[in-house]
Amino acid sequence: MAVTSPNSGFAPWPDRLRRAAIILIATALGLTAAVVFGGLTLPQAGLIFIVIAGAALVPWHLHQSVPTSEDMIGARPAETPVVQALVGGMPDAAVLLDRAGRVLHFNTAAGQLAPALRKNELALFALRSPEIIAALREAIATRQPQRASYVDHVPIDRWMELIVTPLSLPTAFGGSEYCILMTFHDQTPLRRVEEMRADFVANASHELRTPLAALSGFIDTLQGPAREDPKARERFLGIMHTQATRMARLIDDLLSLSRVELSAHVRPEKLVDVVPLVRQVIDGLEPLASERQVAIEIELPPAPVLIAGDTEELLRVFENLIENGLKYGATGGRVMVSLTEPVPDDAAGEVRFAVRDFGPGIPPEHLPRLTERFYRVDAGDSRAQGGTGLGLSLVRHILIRHRGRLLIESVFGHGATFTACFPAAKAATAGAKE
Ligand code: ADP
Repeated sequence: MAVTSPNSGFAPWPDRLRRAAIILIATALGLTAAVVFGGLTLPQAGLIFIVIAGAALVPWHLHQSVPTSEDMIGARPAETPVVQALVGGMPDAAVLLDRAGRVLHFNTAAGQLAPALRKNELALFALRSPEIIAALREAIATRQPQRASYVDHVPIDRWMELIVTPLSLPTAFGGSEYCILMTFHDQTPLRRVEEMRADFVANASHELRTPLAALSGFIDTLQGPAREDPKARERFLGIMHTQATRMARLIDDLLSLSRVELSAHVRPEKLVDVVPLVRQVIDGLEPLASERQVAIEIELPPAPVLIAGDTEELLRVFENLIENGLKYGATGGRVMVSLTEPVPDDAAGEVRFAVRDFGPGIPPEHLPRLTERFYRVDAGDSRAQGGTGLGLSLVRHILIRHRGRLLIESVFGHGATFTACFPAAKAATAGAKE
């Protein structure tokens, strides 16, 4: 393809004047011949000459009536540096094609997506996915925008969306140039969020359906075979109560989780003394501890320990961690609960609430996933213990809101330690003011 200077919109002036001169000379010769041999009168010939000369000398006519290949290329707005810079600066992968599908410009992101792209070559040679080819062909044929979704497998699986937009770029002299803009959008993060949402809904409905099925099964039994059996009725009502409690707990946990997520960006500011909160939770869990025959050893500072926090959420953190220790670490026979203030040379300045149990511990491969929603090491065991699989996820979200963190340490077979770290009050308020 011949290429003129990208800045030249038209053929140079001398060329255009030369063409006009050729037209005028040819017209003059033709008219002279017509006067001499054809019987045309001089005034008629003069009139015709004036009309043709006027038309030949109008600049747009000079440009458009006798187009050369240079004119055609030079007049293409799509080839100007401005358009090249626009395509180059687009945040997503972008390729600009001419009406036949030849590449005019593409940016770095597009070059990475399709390394075979070459300027002035057909894009179809470089973009091999059938969905892309179909969308491009359709856009060229119909001049209508097209969308296509496809999976790019190299170097890793990515869900991509292609938008093909036919464009009509105006030329300086009132004409237009038709070209095609292809933009590629990486939909992978959205897709992952969508998958997580679908998993979450599936898990939540599964968790609710199980106790619901048990409840309706027992209602049928109580209305039928066990109607006149007081002993069976008593037992079944007990089971129904447990299942109803489980459902209520699951709904509570789901609501708490969504509340904490909604307020994740709002850091609590009220200063709270956590010592009485820990005591309150331990008192509430004493019945569970004695039922599981677990001794709770407590180590709390004598003076108040202040953190900037939300009382209800802090209670949920302490309750979840101690309860887990009592439920899953019961075989160890004891659970240590401690609260420590930051030591003077502690750069992080954290208040640490730790729960250590001496039960079976957690295999290392499960540790990174424990705070995912509905993740359990042993789902049967968790359900049998009345667990929802949401406790640690809730703890993690509450700690994120408090700008804290959760540490989980476990040596399989030797118990586990869960530590909730909070910025101490001074550090917390200083951070809040920033
Ligand atoms: P759940 O409602 O099932 O207790 P959590 O989110 O609180 O849900 O805990 C997730 C899983 O982590 C539990 O099902 C259990 O398998 C494991 N886990 C939590 N705490 C302990 C612990 N102290 N010792 C052993 N495993 C634990």
